[in-house]
Amino acid sequence: MSIPPRVAAAPFQTPAYLYDERTMQQRCAMVASHLGEHLRLYYAIKANPSLGVLRALRMHVGGVDISSGIELERALKTGFDPAHMSFAGPGKSDAELRAAVLAGVGAISVESLAEAMRLQRIARETHRSANILLRLNPAQPFPGFAIKMGGKPTPFGIEEAQAPLAIQQILDSPGLNLRGFHVYAGTQCLQPQTLIDNFAYALKMIGQLAADFHLSPELINFGGGLGVAYHEGQQELDAAEALPAMCDLFEQARQSPRLAQCEGIIELGRYLMAEAGWYLTTVTDVKQAHGQTFCVCDGGMHHYLAASGNFGQVIRKNYRVANLDADAEREVARVTLAGPLCTTLDVLAQQAELPVPRVGERLAILHAGAYGLSASPLLFLSHKTPWEYLLDSQDALQTLREPVDPSGLGELG
Ligand SMILES: *Cc1c(COP(=O)(O)O)cnc(C)c1O
Repeated sequence: MSIPPRVAAAPFQTPAYLYDERTMQQRCAMVASHLGEHLRLYYAIKANPSLGVLRALRMHVGGVDISSGIELERALKTGFDPAHMSFAGPGKSDAELRAAVLAGVGAISVESLAEAMRLQRIARETHRSANILLRLNPAQPFPGFAIKMGGKPTPFGIEEAQAPLAIQQILDSPGLNLRGFHVYAGTQCLQPQTLIDNFAYALKMIGQLAADFHLSPELINFGGGLGVAYHEGQQELDAAEALPAMCDLFEQARQSPRLAQCEGIIELGRYLMAEAGWYLTTVTDVKQAHGQTFCVCDGGMHHYLAASGNFGQVIRKNYRVANLDADAEREVARVTLAGPLCTTLDVLAQQAELPVPRVGERLAILHAGAYGLSASPLLFLSHKTPWEYLLDSQDALQTLREPVDPSGLGELG
């Protein structure tokens, strides 16, 4: 696997995450070019909440999806407009809901009727109205999503069959401004047809509810779900195949008077960010054990859990890896990349085919821009956090975060 020469040439230290501003902006532009006039692209902050990343993306997306009060703070701090924020997630606290209402968040996704009632109280107490979308869990499953958020029992949203009751209660509640609906059925989907079918189902379901309740939704959040080809042999998802078809379906639906004013949101995390980041590590030891070659690295699963196969994967498969310092002549063989942690779980790649690394050489794990640092068990085994860098659009390497000891976080004794 090759990586951009400007990344390999950057003067980074390891272990590190490096995010490339140009790649992330190109990904946003590519997706946006397929969305047409009435679908907006939002960035799902949980994929990578780095302030440097948020700043780099701000002018290139139409808004953000936030999933916690601290993500709201980070989005506000980096200049995103609360009117173009969507706040989803089960178990939002009163303090988080209050902060969202006071900030004027444009779309708070209500995940249960009890949450709607808490919002009503908060709206009354703050003398504001709460802009809400009702999040629906579709009755029908869509098998093409590797990770399913709906179409089965999950804590997300309100089941389709219970929606009429919930809508009636919300409409009867002063202070709740029901702007529309949210459907996020699943993610890590590599099949365009699944994305299109899911989109069509959401539109049909919402069209019916709008007709039944004489509603004219202003906003539909269709979630995202576009997947990333993390592993060798996986076929990349072509956005040019999936998105224009979804766009056409939306434009057709907007022909009906009830949806004529409706705008749509597509919110993506991994599809925008995964390719724009690398996890960089240096080989500290090379050894043989029972006939296999082990390269021990200065970084591991405490920084990048997903590469170790322990972030929800059912079957462990290697992420793609590149050796940045071996020339074309180097012998290629199977090697296992182990991290520095004293646990058998700490494997960054198992028997991966690679130009055989030597001590001191630097390796890059690809697709590390999403669900990397913030999705990893940083406290495990008490190591420092990695460097975090942004390679900006002038190819200057900016340090976003220096290594720190995370083990004392808030510790009192
Ligand atoms: C996580 C999340 C996303 C983004 O998912 P990706 O797989 O990273 O694209 C979008 N919407 C909501 C509500 C989410 O929770």
